[in-house]
Amino acid sequence: SDAMAADAMGPVHQVLRDVWGYDSFRPLQEVSIRSVLDRRDSLTVLPTGGGKSLCFQSPALCMDGMAVVVSPLISLMKDQVDALRACGVDAAFINSSLTQAEKRTVADQIRAGKTKLLYVAPERLLSNRMLEFLHQTPISFFAIDEAHCISNWGHDFRPEYRGLRILKEQFPAAAVHAYTATASQPVRDDIVSQLGLQQAEVLVGDFDRPNLTYRMLRANGRLQQVVDVIERHRGESGIVYCISRKEVERTAAALNQLGTVALPYHAGMSDEDRKQSQDAFIKETCDVIVATVAFGMGIDKSNVRFVVHAGMPKSIEHYQQESGRAGRDGLESECVLIYSGGDVVTWKKIMQGDSQSSGSGALQSLEAINQLCGSPVCRHKALVEYFGQSYTHENCGACDFCLDEIELVDDPITLSQKILSCVLRVQERFGATHVAKILVGSTEQRIVQLGHDKLSTHGLLIDDGLNAVRMWIDQLVQQSYLQRTGEYQILSLSESGRRLLHRDGDPRLSVPGKAKRT
Ligand code: ADP
Ligand code: ZN
Repeated sequence: SDAMAADAMGPVHQVLRDVWGYDSFRPLQEVSIRSVLDRRDSLTVLPTGGGKSLCFQSPALCMDGMAVVVSPLISLMKDQVDALRACGVDAAFINSSLTQAEKRTVADQIRAGKTKLLYVAPERLLSNRMLEFLHQTPISFFAIDEAHCISNWGHDFRPEYRGLRILKEQFPAAAVHAYTATASQPVRDDIVSQLGLQQAEVLVGDFDRPNLTYRMLRANGRLQQVVDVIERHRGESGIVYCISRKEVERTAAALNQLGTVALPYHAGMSDEDRKQSQDAFIKETCDVIVATVAFGMGIDKSNVRFVVHAGMPKSIEHYQQESGRAGRDGLESECVLIYSGGDVVTWKKIMQGDSQSSGSGALQSLEAINQLCGSPVCRHKALVEYFGQSYTHENCGACDFCLDEIELVDDPITLSQKILSCVLRVQERFGATHVAKILVGSTEQRIVQLGHDKLSTHGLLIDDGLNAVRMWIDQLVQQSYLQRTGEYQILSLSESGRRLLHRDGDPRLSVPGKAKRT
């Protein structure tokens, strides 16, 4: 009953005040904690910064036995355990960074019944020795952090997570609780089925981050665009994400030359150098970190005022997670994403070389973020809806679209018709650059040889320039009026593209290079 549940929450509220010094739980934390206390399997989906850790840490302190927390990264474990110990909580981790003697000390503490939370990596947890040990230990529950790592639909598949399904078989009395910031339905379903959760309570938090202002800019002098953002936030902390290590190095060097103290961070650097960059950022001896996606997991810096993506991230999930590192203290912060069609090509090349992310799921995720970038729509609405929630505000007041910074062409339908007609005139057998060249009236050899200078659409957009026409074609692709197929990325009309020829549709095309804001 409600009364009983309220009573059960009493000790957890006490712990929240005594140990963490917080006044109240956030709404979803409360429900999530309840399912832990009720020993009912659960999946909690909260955006980065939403407060997932407290959902398992606080009940662990109120229940008999020890909670086992599965976490994918040694650095993540250490950060959380250090933070817990600083609050006076008996927490420990076991991983390869410990000496034999240290492991023995941890085991002794557990045998003495002192340890309330034990962090382990999945492969260590699943070793026979560990399982045997745990069978002799009273367990309160299992918490699986970063649970999306179990799904190859997700953006960070880790095969060793797959083995975790034996937890339900080996420890039928202990509930298993999963936590992630990845909310897409297939990943959610996958987590529940892969872990074998029973009648799981699935809780999905609010994905909107109203204190973040989003801007998505087409690349046009990338470095200057990055500098513009940094200038707006002089003396404040921010992260600049780049796609490749090389870009990180290049961008960091360029920023330093321009007078911004910026340190690089990527997986190709030594542990020591990485730690130095991270510490300088956290202690605020440097304002800006330039990083690959390797940076951020487990970094709990609440006053990051801006996050710039100097290139397109590889999925909306990644974008949510990376941009979500801004403004965790709830204060206004800015997220700027700079993208180009070339970024998509770069990602595809990277994905081809990486068997883990070359599945069609990865390509679909890439397509989704690409579409979002090129569609003049409310960013808050688009992000929230992508994560399966509805967004009811008419105007968020905190994105480039709603702030009216994206200048749109006056008559997008007529403009679209011209472009779509040209695609039809060449029998849907050519790519974007060729079509654009026809539209701007190019008389280069190949156009003339094919007789494409005789088409009625030749020169129709002669005043707009090749770059603008290329951008509009991209936007029509991003808004699904056109599609690209095959090795040569041949353009053809989609169903909605065909309807648009009859003026049925709502394309949004932006005025090139004339963002209202400078
Ligand atoms: P996540 O793991 O979901 O990214 P964290 O667990 O790291 O998020 O929490 C993000 C921040 O919010 C942390 O600084 C945490 O201490 C703080 N926090 C979490 N829950 C509360 C709460 N109920 N009241 C105040 N601060 C909270
Ligand atoms: Zn908006």
